This record gives sequence, C-alpha cells and structure tokens, in this order.
Amino acid sequence: MAPPAPSAIATAHEFVRLGRMFHRRGWVLATSGNLSAVLSRDPLTLAITRSSIDKGRLKSDDLIEVDDKGKPIGPTPHKPSAETLIHIAVAKATGAGAVMHTHSVWGTLMSDLFANKGGVSLEGYEMLKGLEGVSSHEHKEWLPIVENTQDMQSLATTASHLIHRHPDAHGFLVRRHGLYTWGADISSAARHVEAFEFLLEATGRAAAHRSAANRGQTP
Ligand SMILES: [Zn+2]
Repeated sequence: MAPPAPSAIATAHEFVRLGRMFHRRGWVLATSGNLSAVLSRDPLTLAITRSSIDKGRLKSDDLIEVDDKGKPIGPTPHKPSAETLIHIAVAKATGAGAVMHTHSVWGTLMSDLFANKGGVSLEGYEMLKGLEGVSSHEHKEWLPIVENTQDMQSLATTASHLIHRHPDAHGFLVRRHGLYTWGADISSAARHVEAFEFLLEATGRAAAHRSAANRGQTP
C-alpha cells in the first residue's frame, strides 16, 4: 500500500490532538462524534475517523480515507464512521476543508428544547466572533435543527438541502443527537466546535435562568 500523503499524516496528527481535547471536554464521549478533512477536492476524498473508536484514545492510524460515496480507498480492516455520508454531503454543499461532529450534553439538550422553532438563535455574545466572517457580538447566528434518523442517506440529503436553504449557517444540530459544523480547514472547523459549544451552553443556561426567574425560583 502506498504511504499516506503528507497532508493525510498532518491530518491524522491534528485529529489525535483534537479527539483527546474534545473527549476531555465531554463533547465526544462513548465513541460518539467524528472528524473529517478533505484530502482532495477533485475527485473528492476525505480522511475520517473510523467507526466505534474512543476519541480520547485516537491514534493516527484510526483515520480512513474514503471516496465521495463513503467507500474506503485501499484495503483496511476498519469501517469508516457510520455518519460518513453526512460529512461528504456537508463537504460538497459548503466547499469546507473539514467537518466536525460532536455529541455534547448542551448540543443534545438544545437540539430538543428548540426543535419546535426549527433552530436556535445564538446572539449577543462576544464568542460569536469565533465564527468565520463574524465581526460583532451583535450578529445573530441561526443554528438550524433537523430530525434525527438512522437512515444516513436520508440525513445526508436533509443536511445538503438545509445548507442550501441557510447558506450563511456555520453548522446545524441533529435533534437529540448533536452538532455538525465545518470550516475552511481543520483549525477553523475546530474553532467553530469550541465557539458553538460555548454559545449553546451559554444560551441554554441563560434560558434556564430566565425560566426559573419567571417562576419565582432560584435556578
Ligand atoms: Zn453522531
């Protein structure tokens, strides 16, 4: 088998670091979540974390290279992540260089609490400037929510349509499941994970505080 391209090696090392950090923060527990990066655009190939792997113990050979149908390129004993098709759909629809997916407590809770509104409005916080192209806390970020399903092809199609309807979005939530976000490169996508996780928790805690105050209770 040909040695991996230098970009694949750099990607693997960076994903090992991010996997451990995300796991430590509680965003990818119990083998959940996945990370991918575009290795080539034409034809589209991605490096993605393999299925059922603890992100806190990620090793550089836990990445699999896949084609634009999600099929592994070259022999491998491992399966790519179950959600590979969603990463491919996001990479195609956004032109992103990296796609990241987390299952944090706040992402999961907010995706359910705001599902009847179709999304969460994140606004007023300085952390919004962590999102690419946002230069003011006065920005309103609409984070759309889609229903969860185990039909990955269907979820990938839904994600693709959603991105075309919300071209300014930096991510979306899957209900009772988690966050998808992306960026021009790995560091940009990772920054979006950090910004969204902060914004979801801050917005969730503020909503709980207001709700308790309205009931005359101390939250
Ligand atoms: Zn997931």
